[in-house]
Amino acid sequence: MHQADNPFQSLAAPWIAGLTPYVPGKPISELERELGISDSIKLASNENPLGPGVRARAAIETALAELGRYPDGGGFALRRALAEHHGLSPAAVTIGNGSNDVLDLIARVFLQPGAESVFSEYAFAVYSIATQSVGAKARVARARDYGHDLEAMARLVTDRTRVVWIANPNNPTGTWLAAAPLKSFIGALPKTCLVVVDEAYTEYVSEPDFPDATHWIETFPNLIVTRTFSKAYGLAALRVGYALSDPRIAELLNRVRQPFNVNALAQAAAIAAINDPEHIRASVELNRAGMKQLTTAFERLGLAYIPSVGNFVTVDCGRPATPINEALLKRGVIVRPLGNYGMPNHLRISIGLESENARFIAAFEDVLAS
Ligand SMILES: *Cc1c(COP(=O)(O)O)cnc(C)c1O
Repeated sequence: MHQADNPFQSLAAPWIAGLTPYVPGKPISELERELGISDSIKLASNENPLGPGVRARAAIETALAELGRYPDGGGFALRRALAEHHGLSPAAVTIGNGSNDVLDLIARVFLQPGAESVFSEYAFAVYSIATQSVGAKARVARARDYGHDLEAMARLVTDRTRVVWIANPNNPTGTWLAAAPLKSFIGALPKTCLVVVDEAYTEYVSEPDFPDATHWIETFPNLIVTRTFSKAYGLAALRVGYALSDPRIAELLNRVRQPFNVNALAQAAAIAAINDPEHIRASVELNRAGMKQLTTAFERLGLAYIPSVGNFVTVDCGRPATPINEALLKRGVIVRPLGNYGMPNHLRISIGLESENARFIAAFEDVLAS
């Protein structure tokens, strides 16, 4: 049904009328069902092509024995492990069903009709959805070279702004902010405004002046840093993420958090994953090689791409990407078109295994030539 024809819409909160749902990457099973094909590959949701490490897999198997019981609603062991990992108190940790859940908790606690949030053009789509879902107003700053323009963002902050959302690095552009400008931006915000630094891809970044905003939690009481196990840790299907913040902010987030929002397998796997740095190292290594493989191909094809420090890269097809995307799908290759981000000529490619990257490159060349 088209949204406008929904007779129940008039019963919903008024801001729900203008809300369009998040568009996830197409699952392989759905594409294959639609086209009657097999052997497809998905490079569309920035997942780790290696999946979880051996330690996380083993922890999941062990945790299966307790599936009949509710998980630990307070996430005691996971919060303690995360606190230790970051050198903070467990009271600073809020666990989420993916970091999306945490972003939503932040919106529910700190935004409401009359309040505003600020984020950048081309920023992660969930910031807009979380803001609108509670009836708050989004103020969107123009980007600079596809990245966050902190000065433009600062100009949109008013006494109504309660949350500034910053993805570092950003998805879908792969752009990033250096420590010094980000730190002074946060320091200059009014005390009445929280800033969320979303570090979903931080494990992949090796630039020397790339910040770890978790180190600033004790300096800035209005800072919330979010992390996820869905990307480098390879646990996207389990849905587990978290926020680090001043414990007084965490206490508010925990008032609205569902008691069992992180399931028992996810809690066990996440604890094992943070104690498996070798898996992160191997994943980052594979990503570095795959990034080179893709960008070398784009250069050979004469296509511009946005330099990315994440596990994905966004390429400018130089013409509308929708038909190219459709032709790739017919060849069993799922990538992410970015029309809904206002980037109709771009495709975002997640870095896969070497063989998957090669398969994408061959299909892409074939489509561009036909
Ligand atoms: C993928 C992603 C997330 C988180 O996803 P979850 O699976 O919900 O943890 C958060 N922020 C950005 C920028 C992302 O790309």
